Amino acid sequence: MKTTKELLSQIRKDAFRSNLKYHKVQFYEQKESLKLIKFVNGLISHYSHHTGIDKNIILDALESNRTYWSLNYYQRANFPRIDNIAIFETLEDFKLKFPSGKFVCPLCGGHSTNPYECNTKLKAKTNSGICDWKSYGLFGCIGKGYTFTIKTEFIKTFKTNTIFKPIELL
Ligand SMILES: [Zn+2]
Repeated sequence: MKTTKELLSQIRKDAFRSNLKYHKVQFYEQKESLKLIKFVNGLISHYSHHTGIDKNIILDALESNRTYWSLNYYQRANFPRIDNIAIFETLEDFKLKFPSGKFVCPLCGGHSTNPYECNTKLKAKTNSGICDWKSYGLFGCIGKGYTFTIKTEFIKTFKTNTIFKPIELL
């Protein structure tokens, strides 16, 4: 595995490979480079603090996942904050905490066995058909969902999941 110093240098080099046409390139690069490295350091500190995973391992995984320009990749919108969500070690830990396998649909209020797509077959309140609310739709879980991540997944995807609320949390 590359060291943190080597990885940061790789990110910086990638960021500015195509900016040579700019006037006052050095000043621009220095300013943007500092901003970029500050963001990356903040990001890996945040993820390390909340997962307990070593910063260098996180940075190495981030760089392994990156398939495009570092300046576009290392943007706030691409990386969720994880300070106010539940974090599980493994999927088994999640299942132990929520053994019922039942989740409250935010629209019809019924208990769905699918945490992402309502399968209660209850009548939807918004139209005459049966409820088919999806946690990943335009309106998500309308503030009634449950957001979490699983460490073993997070280190590969850097994504969180929002599902219908497990009935154990009612
Ligand atoms: Zn429903």
